[in-house]
Amino acid sequence: MIPFLDLKAQYQSIKPEIDAAVSKILESSQFVLGEEVAAFESDFAAYCGTTHAVAVNSGTSALHLALLAAGVGPGDEVITIPFTFVATVSAICYTGATPVFVDVEQASLTMDPAQLEAAITPRTKAILPVHLYGQMADMDAILTVANRHGIPVVEDACQAHGAEYHGHRAGSLGVSGCFSFYPGKNLGAYGEGGIVVTSNDEHAKKIRMLRDWGQEKRYHHVLKGFNYRMDGMQGAILRVKLRYLEQWTEARRAHARQYNALLRGSRLETPQELAGRRHVYHIYAVRTGQRDQLQRLLQAEGVQTGLHYPIPVHLQEAHRDLGYHRGDFPQSEAAADQVLSLPMFPEMTPSRVEQVAVAARQETSVY
Ligand SMILES: *Cc1c(COP(=O)(O)O)cnc(C)c1O
Repeated sequence: MIPFLDLKAQYQSIKPEIDAAVSKILESSQFVLGEEVAAFESDFAAYCGTTHAVAVNSGTSALHLALLAAGVGPGDEVITIPFTFVATVSAICYTGATPVFVDVEQASLTMDPAQLEAAITPRTKAILPVHLYGQMADMDAILTVANRHGIPVVEDACQAHGAEYHGHRAGSLGVSGCFSFYPGKNLGAYGEGGIVVTSNDEHAKKIRMLRDWGQEKRYHHVLKGFNYRMDGMQGAILRVKLRYLEQWTEARRAHARQYNALLRGSRLETPQELAGRRHVYHIYAVRTGQRDQLQRLLQAEGVQTGLHYPIPVHLQEAHRDLGYHRGDFPQSEAAADQVLSLPMFPEMTPSRVEQVAVAARQETSVY
């Protein structure tokens, strides 16, 4: 069987360092925040090219606090895309604001900047593009529209650790950027985790207070805050793993190049890395009109695949109250019907990549 993801293989490759980091936390008893989390924050800010990073307990919490720091609240609107993981939209709802969708571009499945202007109203308080699958949205075009209206851009970089847009790292182009360290993400904790990066001093200060009960100092609650702190253990583990991230990202990119070459000329549409962008392939998704059939056939061959995502958020039952309908976002709806995520993780071997590609090619030739 070829798994979609193999977290154990990665742990085994760095076991002594991880075990030492965990043991250090157990000995110091700094179980929540503490020195290791603070050190990870500086390391991750440096990695992203921002002056601050504030570690929290999930990517969803990171998005929630970044939006609050941008001044988003009840009665406001935040523009995002429907072809994303539901957390992007949930975080907007947590603030009391209303999510407003624009469709994605066909080539990248990220926010279509051409549709942005028409979605802006006097209530628009933030724009939240998603760097889906590990490729950054068209930030120049998005920022041009946003700046013309004086609206802050918060990046959902939960799938895009180390991705770049014309040499700028994900998270460094908007007023803030939000990352998830859910175990399956490109940089994964051994539990839940997230972080906001920003070079805005005010936003950093506010997010730092909000994650820890709105305290300025102990028991002095300046803001109505949350318990969104990162565990000491996760900070220590992530600090070790961050040192390997570039190596792991290059391995993902090599697998993607190999998939692309082996699938060239087949009936499968392979992902495009657009000019000026560094795709980090959190997800390697191909497209086909016979998606469900291909998934079944690959499963029968022992190849695990994933669907990211089968239903766009505007058609989810939980968000019916937003009033959208099928047909509103044709690119997102087509993608939801056609994308299939192939196995992709750094520890995959070239022979496994070949096995998957050959199987996928064979199955699609029989339609
Ligand atoms: C994973 C993810 C999130 C949420 O992160 P959690 O750490 O699971 O809360 C938000 N947005 C996107 C695009 C994601 O992939």
